[in-house]
Amino acid sequence: MIPSTFSYVRAQSVDEAIHLLQASNGEGKLLAGGHSLVPLMKFRLTTPGTLIDIGHLSELRGVRKEGNRLVVGALTTHRQVLSDPLVQEHIPVLAEAARQIGDIQVRNRGTIGGNLAHADPAADLPGVALALDAMLEIHGEDGAELIEADGFFLGPLVTALPETSVLTSVSFLIPPVDAKSIYLKYAHPASGYAVVGICAIAAKGPDGRVSYIRIGINGVGDTAYRARSVEEKLLGQILTPDRIREAAACAADDGQIGSDLFASEEYRRHICSVYTEKALKEILL
Ligand SMILES: Cc1cc2nc3c(=O)[nH]c(=O)nc-3n(C[C@H](O)[C@H](O)[C@H](O)COP(=O)(O)OP(=O)(O)OC[C@H]3O[C@@H](n4cnc5c(N)ncnc54)[C@H](O)[C@@H]3O)c2cc1C
Repeated sequence: MIPSTFSYVRAQSVDEAIHLLQASNGEGKLLAGGHSLVPLMKFRLTTPGTLIDIGHLSELRGVRKEGNRLVVGALTTHRQVLSDPLVQEHIPVLAEAARQIGDIQVRNRGTIGGNLAHADPAADLPGVALALDAMLEIHGEDGAELIEADGFFLGPLVTALPETSVLTSVSFLIPPVDAKSIYLKYAHPASGYAVVGICAIAAKGPDGRVSYIRIGINGVGDTAYRARSVEEKLLGQILTPDRIREAAACAADDGQIGSDLFASEEYRRHICSVYTEKALKEILL
């Protein structure tokens, strides 16, 4: 289909983008890689009056290390994330998740900020952001603020991002050096999006007990979520296959699990537990 008529403006800075968003009276939308927004416009599921292009703002690209966090510019593409040496060294699971997004064209154009701001429940990065205690830096009319990923994803395509703000960067907590991690995805056979995606990060102490664990899940629910029920059951425990299976059975408990034409709620709950168990066994046994 053809999108409805819109005007196009290329913002020269973050401040100008904020100003243009304000001036558009709710009719403006930021354009980054366009890989989620343009398909929605073609289906006329969104009809912005003005597209404010920020895709070329090079100050919003790149990865740097700040203390125990990696800060990734919002316009860094999935391809840049997966091939970045700092990401590969400190948070390989972020590179692994980015590698599993779409195909090479999507990874070359789609951005980390667009992926999180779009908040597609089946996207790969929201669950990863939750497992990595991500903080999102937002610039708006009142200056800059940090929003925790936990609390950012409010519903399908709905976030806590104010309408006239720009997401400028995302910082991810570097897991403990001895932690192991995995992003395990069951991709929808037609779209490649996650039916379920499990990001699990865990470490054991010298006594063999689980000393650190984070599990972020996307795909099965209305939004990505932290599987805290599973984490609580395993933290401080010596692990056996049965204990992992028992804990993983709660993997759907913290999410709002729905159904669609592809999968019933019952199937989603089941596959969520099965993939959580597989992911945890992979990194912890
Ligand atoms: C064929 C195909 C397959 C795909 N497969 C997958 C997949 O398997 N897994 C997956 O996770 N994703 C997938 N995607 C989506 C892809 O990852 C997109 O990159 C991502 O969802 C959006 O990033 P973008 O830069 O293209 O954002 P855009 O489409 O430009 O923008 C998306 C939304 O975010 C807003 N936005 C963008 N940047 C900012 C910002 N800095 N601040 C505030 N708001 C902002 C826009 O206004 C818009 O509402 C796929 C896309 C396609 C077309």
